[in-house]
This record gives sequence, C-alpha cells and structure tokens, in this order.
Amino acid sequence: ATPVAVAVATGRGARAGLLVRDASAFERMDRIGAVVLDKTGTVTEGKPTVSDVILHGSLDRDRLLLLAGAAERGSEHPVAHALSAFADGREIAVDGFRAVRGGGVSASVDGRMVLVGSAAFLEGRGIAVPDVDAGGVGRTVVHVAVDGALAGSIVLADAPKPHSREAIDTLRRQGIEVFLLTGDDPSPARAVAEAVGIPPHHVFARVLPDEKASKVAALRMAEGGRARRVAMVGDGINDAPALAAADVGIALGTGTDVAKAAADVVIATGDLRGVPRALALGRATLRAIR
Ligand code: ADP
Ligand code: MG
Repeated sequence: ATPVAVAVATGRGARAGLLVRDASAFERMDRIGAVVLDKTGTVTEGKPTVSDVILHGSLDRDRLLLLAGAAERGSEHPVAHALSAFADGREIAVDGFRAVRGGGVSASVDGRMVLVGSAAFLEGRGIAVPDVDAGGVGRTVVHVAVDGALAGSIVLADAPKPHSREAIDTLRRQGIEVFLLTGDDPSPARAVAEAVGIPPHHVFARVLPDEKASKVAALRMAEGGRARRVAMVGDGINDAPALAAADVGIALGTGTDVAKAAADVVIATGDLRGVPRALALGRATLRAIR
C-alpha cells in the first residue's frame, strides 16, 4: 500500500477505535475468508459469576467456595477472578500453587490438596466427574476436588456480550465463515454459539491453548486445498499463539497485554463490531490503492 493510503486508513481506523500496528496488516485484512473467535472474554463478557453450587461430598457451600477461591488466588483466568473473591480478605495458607493452562489450578490450602478445573483436568488426575448439566446459555461448570475426592461443582454464568450476535451476523452476510474456538467444554460452547448465530459444525471445543494455533493454521487451508485468509480474534494469554498464527490477529482492548502484543489490530473496546469494521477498513484501503 502507498504511504498516503496507509496514513489515511490509519487515521480512519483510529477514529473508529481500531489500532492497526503495521501497514502490511491492511493488505492482510482484505479478502478474509474466515474469522475465528475465542469464546470467553471475546464473544462473552468474560466476567463469569457463580450461579449455582452442587455439593458432592461433606463440605458445605461456604467452605467449598473458600477453598476453591484460595486455590485460585494465583491465577489470572476469568474463572479464577470469579472464585477468588470468595477468599478475599481471609487469612488462609496457600502453598504449592500450580496452574495448568486451559485446565485449572492445584494448591495446598490450609493443608488440604485442592484442585479446581474442568472435568478433563480432574479426570486426568484420577478423579471421576459426573455429568453436570449447566443449563442455559453462557453457563460453564468447574469442579472442585479436596484431598483426592470430588467435593463440588460450581456453575458459572458468562453471558454473550450485547453486540456479539450483530457483529457475527454482519460477517456472515459478507460471506465470511465464522468459527468459535474454546478450551471450554462442548455443551457450553455450543450453547453460546447458538445464541450468537455460529453453526454447530463451526464450534471447536476443549481445544488446549497450544492447539489453538494449529486449529487456526488448519483453517487457513480451505476445502480442496485452497488457501484462505483467516483472522483470529481473542483476548487471553492463551490466544496469543493463535493470534500470531492467523493472517490477521485481532485483540480486544479489554484483553491481556500478551494478546495485544501478539495482534496486528487492537479494537479499543471489547465490542466485536470492531471486527467487521476492521475488515471493511482493509477492503477500503486496498481499493484506494488498486
Ligand atoms: P477459553 O478458550 O474459553 O478462554 P481456557 O482455555 O482458558 O478457555 O480454559 C478452558 C477451561 O479450563 C475453562 O472453561 C475451565 O473449565 C478450565 N480452566 C482453565 N483455567 C482455570 C482456572 N484457573 N480455574 C478453573 N478452571 C479453569
Ligand atoms: Mg478468552
């Protein structure tokens, strides 16, 4: 692109709340064939709140939430923010904290071994987890084990953002295929997808952080072996490799610094309508110089 076209487009982007980090991004934003969206914090608010607690053992609800909250103190995950509030201001000894990306956390809390995470995370540590129906759009379940026994399941509600559906409708009307990519379980992933208009066969659930980038790379090859340009949109530390693997990485201003550093474009707000706006800017810039 010519310097003038790029300067004009950069200014227009800035006014629309889009920070475009380098000139070549405008060219890569043209003719995007697929947009891949992270779920938590990108399509949804990313601020889950506890909506239900199911007890499986002898611990009561308050004790369960206290142990889980204390174990989550060292984690930056949105789920951890929701849970650690239950241990705020409580003097409680936490040792040996470990976080497994896309899985959960483990720590010794008051001398008890606490695990908090997905069913797969607990099952990988030898703890059987029953199917818990979260029920409703934007609900996710994490499970808590104490001293090797399942103690409870916590249902968290994380609603889609108000403008997610509109942004996705706009992309799909332009013939762009939209995919949802998440580390979360298939059933909450499909419920959110349905609410925002993403078809069920475009949902990739239980994708580990390391696998997000390879999913994006695979989507760059469309059916029949044709190359297709893919934009990835995310907010989390775990999205950074996928943002880098895409033709265009788009981070949300509400996201982590790691995601923003890995992206070509940063949407100033958390509003997904910035995605069709960014792609329109790419098309307009290319038209101006052709
Ligand atoms: P997403 O791709 O939707 O942002 P992640 O890959 O970060 O999700 O996490 C996938 C799943 O792993 C979560 O839905 C949750 O069940 C579990 N998980 C990850 N980190 C934590 C944590 N700190 N505490 C509890 N569960 C967690
Ligand atoms: Mg996220």
